[in-house]
Amino acid sequence: MVEERLLKILRCPLGKAKLREEGDWLVCEKCGVRYPIRDGIPVMLIHEATLPAGVKDVKELPCQKEEEKA
Ligand SMILES: [Zn+2]
Repeated sequence: MVEERLLKILRCPLGKAKLREEGDWLVCEKCGVRYPIRDGIPVMLIHEATLPAGVKDVKELPCQKEEEKA
């Protein structure tokens, strides 16, 4: 379990979207990328994360696209 106050401030590093906890993962509510939680510590690194099904490249993610527009 990740501390609730920590979960509140954590955002997807790609697009600053909110995350929800799913077992041992933090899942971005926008792009669906899954970040692993190791020993209670969320690993917010895109190269450690699991991309959602059907997405082959980080560049295809909605969070990432939004960042490019800005
Ligand atoms: Zn995201």
